[in-house]
Amino acid sequence: MENKNKVVVDGLTFVPYLTRDEIEKQVKRVASEIRKDLEGKKPLFLCVLNGAFVFAADLIREAGINDCTVSFVRYKSYDGMSSTGCVKQLIGLTEDIDGRNVVIIEDIVDTGLTASCMVADLKKRNPESVRFATLLHKPESSKTGFRPDYVAFEIPPKFIIGYGLDLDGKVRNLKDIYVVED
Ligand code: 5GP
Repeated sequence: MENKNKVVVDGLTFVPYLTRDEIEKQVKRVASEIRKDLEGKKPLFLCVLNGAFVFAADLIREAGINDCTVSFVRYKSYDGMSSTGCVKQLIGLTEDIDGRNVVIIEDIVDTGLTASCMVADLKKRNPESVRFATLLHKPESSKTGFRPDYVAFEIPPKFIIGYGLDLDGKVRNLKDIYVVED
């Protein structure tokens, strides 16, 4: 249920946090940083499913690099122990990234465990560069010290939904971002 101010989902109430206009402004800023860094380099954008699909669609179009390619990956949690110490395994990457300039696009960096595993995993495949763009970053939640290269918004450690981010698979469709009510 959504009204002008609040969204109620699964019995939890969320209040407006970032409007679509604020999001658009920061997406444009990040896109222009990426364009400056990577124009002429034929970057490979890796959108991390499911949460980053909305951000990635806007960011890639704003970056306006016609020679880029786009691919989609996701994570599978390890049931047992990982040989690398990573808690999650990257799946769906079919491209050879040898010599490529890769830009990972993620919805949110919380503890940084997923992000640091992904960057470490990709770096083993001999790319020219790996950069990390995230819509949201919760620096106070970091357990890894991971620092994304591009951040649209730094936020406090509170639970967020909308603009691709879900609650139990729902509400990814919301155009604005909402935070759980205190
Ligand atoms: P990390 O490995 O950085 O702790 O976890 C990142 C993942 O946790 C994100 O890709 C996302 O799936 C989930 N996550 C962390 N914080 C939030 C949040 O505030 N809202 C939602 N919807 N997902 C979150």
